Amino acid sequence: MAEVTVSELATSVGVPTERLLRQMQEAGLSHKSADASVSDDEKQKLLAYLKTSHGDSVAQPKKITLQRKTTTTLKTGSGSGRKTVNVEVRKKRTYVKRDPDELAAEEAEANAAAQAEFEPEEPVAAEPEAKPETEVKAETPAPEPEAAPSEPEPEVVAEQAEPEAEPKPEPEAASARSFVDDIEEKRQAAIERRKAEDAKREAELKAKEDARKRESEQKTKPAPAATAPATPAPDDGPAPIKDDGRPHKRKEQRRPADEDDEGKPHRKRAGKASKKALSGPKKGSRRDLYEMAVEGEDQELLARRRTMRANHKASNKHAFKKPTTKIVHEVDVPEAITVADLAQRMTVKAGEVIKHLMKMGVMATINHSLDQETAVLLVEEMGHKARLVSANQVEDQLEELVVIEGELKPRAPVVTVMGHVDHGKTSLLDYIREAKVASGEAGGITQHIGAYRVPTSRGEIAFLDTPGHAAFTAMRARGAQCTDVVVLVVAADDGVMPQTEEAINHSRAAEVPMVVAINKCDKESADPDRVKNELSAKGVIPEDWGGDTQFIEVSAHTGQGIDELLEAIALQAEILELTAVEDSPAKGVVIESRIEKGRGVVATLLVQQGTLKHGDLVLAGQSYGRVRAMSDERAQQVKQVGPSSPVEILGLDAAPSAGDEFVVLTDERKARDVAEHRAEKERQTRLQRQQAAKLENMFSNMESGQAKTLSVVVKADVRGSLEAIQSALLDLGNEEVQVNIVSSGVGGITENDVNLSMTADAIILGFNVRADAPSRRLAETENVEIRYYSIIYQLLDEIKSALGGMLDPERVETIVGIAEVREVFSSPKFGQVAGCMVVEGTVYRNKPIRVLRDNVVIFEGELESLRRFKDDVNEVRNGMECGIGVKNYDVKVGDQIEVFEVKEVAREL
Ligand code: GDP
Ligand code: MG
Repeated sequence: MAEVTVSELATSVGVPTERLLRQMQEAGLSHKSADASVSDDEKQKLLAYLKTSHGDSVAQPKKITLQRKTTTTLKTGSGSGRKTVNVEVRKKRTYVKRDPDELAAEEAEANAAAQAEFEPEEPVAAEPEAKPETEVKAETPAPEPEAAPSEPEPEVVAEQAEPEAEPKPEPEAASARSFVDDIEEKRQAAIERRKAEDAKREAELKAKEDARKRESEQKTKPAPAATAPATPAPDDGPAPIKDDGRPHKRKEQRRPADEDDEGKPHRKRAGKASKKALSGPKKGSRRDLYEMAVEGEDQELLARRRTMRANHKASNKHAFKKPTTKIVHEVDVPEAITVADLAQRMTVKAGEVIKHLMKMGVMATINHSLDQETAVLLVEEMGHKARLVSANQVEDQLEELVVIEGELKPRAPVVTVMGHVDHGKTSLLDYIREAKVASGEAGGITQHIGAYRVPTSRGEIAFLDTPGHAAFTAMRARGAQCTDVVVLVVAADDGVMPQTEEAINHSRAAEVPMVVAINKCDKESADPDRVKNELSAKGVIPEDWGGDTQFIEVSAHTGQGIDELLEAIALQAEILELTAVEDSPAKGVVIESRIEKGRGVVATLLVQQGTLKHGDLVLAGQSYGRVRAMSDERAQQVKQVGPSSPVEILGLDAAPSAGDEFVVLTDERKARDVAEHRAEKERQTRLQRQQAAKLENMFSNMESGQAKTLSVVVKADVRGSLEAIQSALLDLGNEEVQVNIVSSGVGGITENDVNLSMTADAIILGFNVRADAPSRRLAETENVEIRYYSIIYQLLDEIKSALGGMLDPERVETIVGIAEVREVFSSPKFGQVAGCMVVEGTVYRNKPIRVLRDNVVIFEGELESLRRFKDDVNEVRNGMECGIGVKNYDVKVGDQIEVFEVKEVAREL
């Protein structure tokens, strides 16, 4: 290294040149000027000098104080009991430098003092000045921070090892000594005291805590010791210092060696647990328990409490717990059952059933009636056992009960008269009755009961004098067979007409032999051969033409041929060899029934088997009761009647339907059961039919392949329209779907049509015709759909869309009110005004109307005026009189004004 001048050196060292020069001179160098060069050797010399001189001036420190602060965060507990505790540990340690001789003296003294100690070898006063300060920012007492700088956590064990690890600092003997002694005394006292306390507490704790807890308690034991200066026994309990609640200052840390050897390193938790144990007995057991939990000592307890809470929340609604094992029910499935009933039988909610039905592709409501097949599928689907119950089970039992046994005796035939309207049925029956029944009786028959017996030379004949077709078809519709012979009345001047055909079909279907009465033979225009011809074309061939049907020419007016007719019937009956048991409880059929004021239910029965006696218990359809009174067709009280006898009885609890079978029972309870069962069954089947018979359902039926034909009954006002509609309807079909015209005719819709469509599951299409009141009622009760149209294309369109399954929102026409014209006035001011009585619903001023004459639509339009007394009103309700002016049309007395409304209703499947 090149030599430098003094001034350069001064600059590089950073001191003034003068000072450097002075120092160099003090170091014994000869440099005087700033320009003198300095060699390396000279530099070294200067440095050596400077070192020594500085050493003098900078005295070695006697004491070094080290401070250290650590902050730790403890997390305790979990869940809602979680809390964070910040622990700040401040440590201060002062190291004092001592002279070697001073140290020696100290050591000697220390040794002497140590002899009184537990461990004389240990440098007891190694850290007399170590003065850990603990500041705890939490309610829990701070852990014992020990003078172990390397340990972030106050660790007891590590701390104990400290004295050895301690560097060289020499204890200040005198102060340390006295201090140690002092502490030691206190400690011994504390030990004694605590031992007593511990023994007591131990017993308590042991009782409380289980083995696991006890183990943790053991961990806590060394910790309390930490608070004490020294703890000779492991079960050294709480430190008295704690109880003061002061920050703990510790002058000395001493441990028996054996505690060190206890092995297990004590963890933080143990330290804290100790605090818990300490505070426990003093602060009360609740806090004790709480802390125990918070410490995580009893995680299990906490977890249990949590689950309990969760369970409580979840089960807050009901305390009921669903049984885990499913109960399999044996479910009785009758032929028809509603969703609600089925759900009840399975003891599930109806919603469940509906859900399962949806899965099966069946949309149903709670009141929906299911057929047996669907119900069985559903029951099995839901894991229950289905038990098929024949709806006839009760009936079967009944059949077993009612045994008709005895000697068979010949009985009178039961005859029904049928035929087209106005062909003379009523006249014929009247003639026979008057001539044969009422003959010799003044005033004729006072009470007409709809059936009577006529004596002939070949025995008696029972005539059913009910409106022929209606009774017959109604009975047939109910499956009852009460007629032995049908008398088909055909007017000789009119020939075969639609209802004649119908009658033929009915009797054929019922397999009842026919006797043809060609009526009105007294007329000039009578042409019996024409009738024979036309009937032969229908398959009814006269005997004299080689057939098997008797044709009798009669006249209801002149009485011509009546006896022959009766003979023919009797002959026919003989061929049939009709027999019945006379000597047994009665059985038969209800011909008609009504409710009369003061008399109750009046039912006309036809006894077919056995003998009906006064006082018998009769079960008829859905009604039952004892026969209180019995009268024959002449209104004579009778005590008993035999087979083929019509009789009128009083005593039933409800009006049975025409065609219902009746039986005589002995067990009243059985009768009631059966009656109730039948009522229920009818309710179910009605529901079912309600669903099935609707035109709206045709589409879904077709989709599932159930219905390939749409059965209709067509009635129209004139033959022309009828034929047009018929041919158009037949053209609508294709290979898959067909319109099946069950029946068609001209004129209003009658009960007959309703009965027929009921049996054929058809809908009735009325074209410019209406149903009369009884047939409307029947249609309503039997859920037969009647649709009215006034435009052929509309009719065809709807049927077409029904067929094609494209039912768009449909136009629903609802008749909202009917007014009957009672009088017609002409007023100069208002023109023609009809004095009307509202007989059904409500008549509205602003709704479209139709005028009907004899159930045939003759006008369609709107109202000009609607008045009540002198006031214009918007509506007139049922039973009120009103004045109606029909716009652009003159009504007549007897006309009906029908108010309707047309709504567009979205179709639902
Ligand atoms: P129903 O509708 O079949 O019951 O027929 P009705 O008994 O009401 O008779 C219809 C019409 O035909 C009535 O006006 C009777 O007077 C008439 N009529 C019935 N039988 C005869 C008959 O034998 N000769 C004649 N000339 N007229 C008859
Ligand atoms: Mg008649």
